[in-house]
Amino acid sequence: MSDHQFATSQVHAGFDPGANADSVTPVIYSNAAFWLENSQRGHDVANGDIPGFLYSRVSNPTVSFLEKRIAELDGAKEAVAVASGMAAITYAILNAAEGGGRIIAPYDVYGGTFDSLRTLLPQFGVHTDFVEDINDIDHIESLIGDPNNTGDTDVKAIFAESVSNPTTVITDVEALAELAHRHGIPLIIDNTLPTPYLYRPLEHGADIVVYSTTKALSGHGNAIGGVVTSGDSFDWANGRYPQFTEPEYILGEAAGRAPRSFAEAAGPLAFIRRLRLKYLRLTGAVLGPFEAYLQLIGLETLSERVSKETASATAVAKYLSQQPHVTKVNYSGLPGSAQADLVAEHYPLGIGSVLSFELEGGAVQTAAFINSVKLFSYLANIGDARSLIVDPVNTTHREFTQEARTINGVDATTIRLSIGLENPDDIIADLEQAFQKVYA
Ligand SMILES: *Cc1c(COP(=O)(O)O)cnc(C)c1O
Repeated sequence: MSDHQFATSQVHAGFDPGANADSVTPVIYSNAAFWLENSQRGHDVANGDIPGFLYSRVSNPTVSFLEKRIAELDGAKEAVAVASGMAAITYAILNAAEGGGRIIAPYDVYGGTFDSLRTLLPQFGVHTDFVEDINDIDHIESLIGDPNNTGDTDVKAIFAESVSNPTTVITDVEALAELAHRHGIPLIIDNTLPTPYLYRPLEHGADIVVYSTTKALSGHGNAIGGVVTSGDSFDWANGRYPQFTEPEYILGEAAGRAPRSFAEAAGPLAFIRRLRLKYLRLTGAVLGPFEAYLQLIGLETLSERVSKETASATAVAKYLSQQPHVTKVNYSGLPGSAQADLVAEHYPLGIGSVLSFELEGGAVQTAAFINSVKLFSYLANIGDARSLIVDPVNTTHREFTQEARTINGVDATTIRLSIGLENPDDIIADLEQAFQKVYA
């Protein structure tokens, strides 16, 4: 960790021009494998005893620049970049809960996460208790301790999003972390929406953070990627996670050593090291060096983009809340929102570029509105330099059950916006002409 300010780190961290042919822009190392020079060095690199690269499924220099840069921006000790946000989420959850156990998560997680927790991960013995309110600490504690559930030791992690999509509910990470740690459980936070510029969950008690770097982190809608970051305060050897304390052949005998576990080899970094060596190395959702490069370039302007987009999103939310045909605006960053106190305390720079609102009428008006905007692109992404619009029930929220949609407050009249870098007057003028067309 350097002692640079955020805006400095986002253009410099993790990359050394002097070690890269004097290039100041990150270099794309398009190698499958790396020259090992001689058998002693090959042995030492393979065992991780000296720094170096062996094979790009495990680590690659360009991907490593990205990992180091994001780790520094996130206040993390280490990061592992992977091929998508979903790969980051899947790896993080399985690394904590493999072999069976429960996850506690809110209903309003990302659609892919919800579908995975509800229908796929149970096939691997990982079951989820969904909660309606992730800030209802007493209820969550009752789920951890309830003997009719599967018992105290069966909960392997609490998973939540710092800012939810599309209704921007804010998770009280500090309260949740305090609860989780009282029970020896880690807190995993998906921090995709705010990005580390607006919020750093590790500084508020989270243990593991996941990102879809596809979104505002890279910021141009031109690459799919994900990353997992780790702090160093969780005790993975606390008895609840045998996968970190079992002797590991690749860390012991294979390296010509006495048997060692990930906890013995890496202490509080056992989770992130194991995620790379077991999940990335053995299931292979690797980020390519070109995607890593695009994301590094995007990161260089992270604070500039996100602060402008957040200011514009706030202006749009204010505009929408004054419109006669809007029945509700979901943007916790608005003064007077239900979570304004939590936002004031933890999000001094705002909550980000995503918001949603409810139109008067029904599916007909929603479709007409989507068809009437000209500047907004109708597509299922967020955090792009361009402003985006989507009708969640037809697109991003298809995988939610009717029950979950009702709990999440998403229905046929919900419209989600992701505000880009255009002039905010043009963005608002585009919405204005759409209202005039739909409600003429
Ligand atoms: C997009 C998104 C994901 C999934 O990321 P991909 O890169 O599309 O796999 C996960 N969580 C959140 C909050 C997202 O917005």
